[in-house]
Amino acid sequence: MNQKILIKNSTIVNEGKSFVSDVLLSDGLIQQIGNIDIETNYKLIDGTGKHLLPGIIDGQVHFRDPGLTHKGDLYTESKAAIAGGVTSFIDMPNTVPNILTVQSLREKYEIASKKSLANYAFFLGVNGDNIDEFIKMDTSQFIGVSDDGLYFTKKGNLLADSPEKMEKLFANCKSIIAIHSEKEEIVEENEQAFRKEYGDNIPAKFHPIIRSTKGCYEATKRAIDLARKHNARLHILHLTTEAETHLFQNDIPLQEKKITTEVSVHHLWFSDKDYERLGMLIKWNPAIKTEQDKQGLLKALLDDRIDIITTDHAPHTLAEKQQPYFQSMSGAPMVQHSLNCMLEFYKKDLISLEKIVEKMCHNPAILYGMTKRGFIREGYYADLTLVDLNSQWTVATDNLLYKCGWSPLEGTLFHTAIKQTFVNGNLVYNNGRFNEMFKGMEITITTKSN
Ligand SMILES: [Zn+2]
Repeated sequence: MNQKILIKNSTIVNEGKSFVSDVLLSDGLIQQIGNIDIETNYKLIDGTGKHLLPGIIDGQVHFRDPGLTHKGDLYTESKAAIAGGVTSFIDMPNTVPNILTVQSLREKYEIASKKSLANYAFFLGVNGDNIDEFIKMDTSQFIGVSDDGLYFTKKGNLLADSPEKMEKLFANCKSIIAIHSEKEEIVEENEQAFRKEYGDNIPAKFHPIIRSTKGCYEATKRAIDLARKHNARLHILHLTTEAETHLFQNDIPLQEKKITTEVSVHHLWFSDKDYERLGMLIKWNPAIKTEQDKQGLLKALLDDRIDIITTDHAPHTLAEKQQPYFQSMSGAPMVQHSLNCMLEFYKKDLISLEKIVEKMCHNPAILYGMTKRGFIREGYYADLTLVDLNSQWTVATDNLLYKCGWSPLEGTLFHTAIKQTFVNGNLVYNNGRFNEMFKGMEITITTKSN
């Protein structure tokens, strides 16, 4: 049973504008936007003084389900997402098993239908192992295909690192190809050099020198050249260097782009200055780089060379992180705080609310062709989040919802708070309390011919 909910007097942030209005939700959809009278059968939410945003769509998460559920699962991590205003996510294929077949992909959808509180979609994995099978499939049915995280299972399986496999993929794939872009040979050479000097105990601060700018830039450049040659639809995941931002265009609308990219929140938030304080906790692949890279990424986000913001939410247990360099796992949980982080930039006058909504809500829906999501429009799914832009709180262990129970942001003071989150018209998160009766939906896509 869907509730009828009236959100009264909030400031709606949508499609480049902010204005005070009412929104009526029913049957899972946004039914009306405007001046709406209160009726007795409506559940009333007073939005006075608060801002209503479309629910955040996170285009890259690792919720670890199935197979790695000691780190996180589709229930725990989707719950954390919703507390952070995230109503939809696309999850990566490096679970156990790796999602390399249509059957395993369907099984993952099945698990999500029972466990996920947020709306979900899944990338099909592609790497050296299934590329030949893969190119025989009708690839237009997938929201996207990706190699992200799969390189951990076997060396040499990173697509951006194998021009021959990429040629095959780009010549045949009809969906978005989202790749992790680093040149493995450059990384390995650097690893050798540092291993010689430090053995296994390489300090975390050398991570961005090992996983270097050169390694990122050359892989991204090569992937773009190949995509252009085959007129393929390429998306470069989690960009980390200022140098790479100059490889992307902002002179055509997102709808017309064949080559797109994203930045993950942590690459805007942290810089190499933070390794001293946080060590392996902020070891990500690709690495957190310099202050100049961080500023270059924000600049490219603001001038539209970067299209969307993701988290690359990748929980590991604290024990898995607190290991010597080569054993410490790369990745960290971020999905509960991505909107708070971006709103801190807003508070510092570095980005507008409208731009945050464009990059976290509208553009992911456009980029992946999601049906009726990402905007506050009548007839669209009622995925919304109500935020208080004047509320202080500190990230601490006891307010984390991740199964892994830690965050690199612990101790951070935020000046905004997510108050309510609506998923498909249901009030699923309300001031710290959850209604778990309602599960998320599979995200459908509207395929356009290439
Ligand atoms: Zn990832």
